Amino acid sequence: MTSSASNHAGTLSFLAKLLTFGKGTTAKRDTSIDPVAVAKAAKAASAPERTQGQMEQPNYSESDQEPVKLEVVKHADGRMSQYPPPDRWDDWVEYDSKAWPKKVARRYTLVPTICFNCESACGLLAYVDKETCEIRKFEGNPEHPGSRGRNCAKGPATHNQIYDPERILYPLKRVGERGEGKWKRVSWEEALADIAAKMRASRERRRDGIMYHVGRPGEDHYANRAIQAWGVDGHNSHTNICSAGARLGYFIWSGADRPSPDYANAKATLLVSAHLETGHYFNPHAQRIMEGKRRGGRIIVLDPRLSNTASRADVWLPTWPGSESWVLLSIARHLLETGRWNREFVRRWVNWRETLAAAPKFAEDPKVRQLAQAAAERKLKEGDWAFEDFVEVLKAMYAEFTFEKAAEEAQVPVERIREAAEIVAEAGTRLATHTWRSATMGNLGGWQVARTLFFLNVLTGSVATEGGTGLTTWDKFKAKPFKSPPALNAWNELHLPHEWPFAMYEMSFLLPHFLEEGRGDVDVYFTRVYNPMWINPDGFMWLKALRDEEKIKCHVALTPTWNETAWFADYVLPMGHAGERHDLMSQETHAGQWIGFRQPVRRVAMERAGQTVERTWEANPGEVWEETEFWIDLSWAMDPDGELGVREYFEAPTDPSRPITVDEYFGWIFEHSVPGLPEAAESEGLTPLQYMRKYGAFEVSRDRYARYEEPKEDGVEIDGEAKVGFGTPSGKLELFSPTMHEWGWPEQRHCVPWVLESHVHPRHIDRAKGEMLLLPTFRLPTLIHTRSANAKWLYEISHKNPVWMHPEDAARLGVATGDLVRVETEIGYFVDRVWVTEGIKPGIIAMSHHLGRWRLKEGDGIGAGMSSLVTLDEKGDDHELHVVHGGKAWKSPDPDTSRVWWEDVGVHQNLTHAVHPDPISGAHCWHQKALSVRKAEAHERHGDVTVDTKKSMEVYREWLALTRSAVDHSPDGTRRPYWFKRPLKPVKEAYALPNHPWGRDRSEAAE
Ligand code: SF4
Repeated sequence: MTSSASNHAGTLSFLAKLLTFGKGTTAKRDTSIDPVAVAKAAKAASAPERTQGQMEQPNYSESDQEPVKLEVVKHADGRMSQYPPPDRWDDWVEYDSKAWPKKVARRYTLVPTICFNCESACGLLAYVDKETCEIRKFEGNPEHPGSRGRNCAKGPATHNQIYDPERILYPLKRVGERGEGKWKRVSWEEALADIAAKMRASRERRRDGIMYHVGRPGEDHYANRAIQAWGVDGHNSHTNICSAGARLGYFIWSGADRPSPDYANAKATLLVSAHLETGHYFNPHAQRIMEGKRRGGRIIVLDPRLSNTASRADVWLPTWPGSESWVLLSIARHLLETGRWNREFVRRWVNWRETLAAAPKFAEDPKVRQLAQAAAERKLKEGDWAFEDFVEVLKAMYAEFTFEKAAEEAQVPVERIREAAEIVAEAGTRLATHTWRSATMGNLGGWQVARTLFFLNVLTGSVATEGGTGLTTWDKFKAKPFKSPPALNAWNELHLPHEWPFAMYEMSFLLPHFLEEGRGDVDVYFTRVYNPMWINPDGFMWLKALRDEEKIKCHVALTPTWNETAWFADYVLPMGHAGERHDLMSQETHAGQWIGFRQPVRRVAMERAGQTVERTWEANPGEVWEETEFWIDLSWAMDPDGELGVREYFEAPTDPSRPITVDEYFGWIFEHSVPGLPEAAESEGLTPLQYMRKYGAFEVSRDRYARYEEPKEDGVEIDGEAKVGFGTPSGKLELFSPTMHEWGWPEQRHCVPWVLESHVHPRHIDRAKGEMLLLPTFRLPTLIHTRSANAKWLYEISHKNPVWMHPEDAARLGVATGDLVRVETEIGYFVDRVWVTEGIKPGIIAMSHHLGRWRLKEGDGIGAGMSSLVTLDEKGDDHELHVVHGGKAWKSPDPDTSRVWWEDVGVHQNLTHAVHPDPISGAHCWHQKALSVRKAEAHERHGDVTVDTKKSMEVYREWLALTRSAVDHSPDGTRRPYWFKRPLKPVKEAYALPNHPWGRDRSEAAE
């Protein structure tokens, strides 16, 4: 690898030119300057001793060429757009809008990449200055089939993140105590050698000592392949705080854990999430939802809060949290009672025979059992089950879900539910539905919300139809790499302990609680673009764990910006934003498949100019790197002689003596694993890699519907024909789940779509005593968890998270907008300002979860405008956080930081949230019971947080007691149903339960 020192060679000859180049925002073109060398020289000249707070702002050159004229393009689907055409991307001239009223022309090479600020993977187009190689701006990539040239505010704000004056520019190693905030800059070689040695030592001893804990991946397969190559059960995700509830609900229906609605063609769109502001695939989904609405489609939204989505709905149902399944099942009953359901689809694709056979075992209503018994007798006589008998059982089973009862449970007008039901019935096979996070992650049993929602698609036959709801398996495109490591024979019980055999996926947010109980330890812990101490519930438990060097022996934080968790790391390694890294991404944004290619845009611009770049950090600011190359080099360093069997997966296919390059890695995939791409590339005289570097995305297929109906030799038999079917054991949609029934959850409310009582059901919130429901799950459209930190442009739009409170509650408590309130949870309390609004139901308070970032040192860590300076006072289990001051302006190379005008940067409420692991899905059930809400007293200040971690462990144990362990309930002595998904699935032998899983002896298993 080239060291930064070697970059100094050849630098001096450019320095004289640099002195006259780029002082100010424009520079006249000097044709004697090699732009690539200038960029490298600037980097090398500024390299010594910079860690953070020194990021220089970009300079742009001025061109004497005339701007290219933009033309309006009319698309087949009616859209009109105006973007630079791809054949002009390599040499684009336009006036600089910031120079107005002067006409200053700038000359760019436009490089496509993929946004990294959420999982939607929208296309971006970077305008890279032809001379200075600096990025002028990011706009939408019109060639991207998912986002079609559009972005949300976070896409263009990538520029602000890249030129963040506070960003981490070099690898840092801790030199004081963990959390003391003392660091020294180290070289990449030093960091790689030390970390790789620790990984090797761990891998030689055990298969569960290395843990890669990822926030939102923002990429497909690459890191997972690396972990699998290390031969460890090391994947840990954030899924259990995000989507585990919805995933389980979809998965046990279909074997696929995510829906893929065709919004643009829907007659009705039914959402139990805020898709028009923060949906899972926010911008690609939002634009298609509005497209469907423009074509006459209707929108139904269930949300206790008046979200942007609810404000665009035809029917808004502000349901009490946890009551959603009541409303959805009442709509199901309406379809059944009025006969407006798709009998033929259900007959063909639902496991109704299995359901009928099992009904006497699970049905609670004697009438349903009687009907099922009669059906069984008829089957004995006639040799097969009768579908008509199933229809009678189905109707009887859901008869209790009347509109009236649903209205009472949900606390919404009965006419509105009836209206929603009519819209669903009229939509028929054009019903697009989606739920993610929201109710599925707020409530105990939230997974049944997804299950009851998809029930409506099953009944209407709108499964993967035009305008209906498909599944991720058919729309997300998965490319295969050149060499896949084998599945491993290992099981890390810190990830998937025996108590949660159905968890989707690792029980990641309980890691500190498991460590506290003595369930294990971690040799090398990577937090990768993830901030668990801040984003997870019960953050002080994380703080305890991260400080304990016996339990977490080495903590490596891979992150583009400072975060609260990284402050407690041993290494902080700077990773790139969008436009600074290579990744592949595809998402199920609509009924079609595409693949997107994230690229380091300055590196690509330099390569277009004829420069060789060996490692991406040479082209990025400071020594900011990318994970793709980092994992190659780290894995190589872990196993330099190939003894461990790791190195072989990182060797160049044509020359095993050296590591593979990114061009070889992705070039192989584009050539061998993306149908149609080689031909499309050839038609333009390009290689597949060149094609992807040019366009940044490729559409693999479009208008893909009803894949389950396609023929498949060994598929599921439907009316005498073998079909693709679904990914369940039966190959059909499983209304009755035999898996749930066999694994210890045999009750009706678990094994068919039903209602589960939430922990925040009105029965559990004593409003007379002043208790309220705290709804902490909603997001803001301009922020993404902690990833958008240090983007001043985004914080200027939204920077505080007040407590939403209905006027009735505000009057009861004697508070007005702006007053401070103290909110007490099961484990502590926080103090925040109130926003009085009719946009929230009485009895509920709501807070966005993004805000309340903090730092422990003035002038260090997270940017001063985006975080509060705080003190931590800790005595035993008592933890207190106090705000010294809020956000403020500061001087930096970016003049914009001196314009911070706000002080309130929100309150870190998650610290006061007790963990609530759902006993089945494993999801953290985010809604909290607020034991008291009152006006703050004089000594209580904005941002104060107090937590007792003794209580944290007590609440954890209460929820742990709700689980039904595989030790007691596994039907076959395994840890988990083998057909259930895991991000990295081990071999079958690894599923066998050991004799002594943590805390249990199998000989004492319940009968
Ligand atoms: S929706 Fe997500 S991927 Fe798309 S521009 Fe916004 S943050 Fe980026």
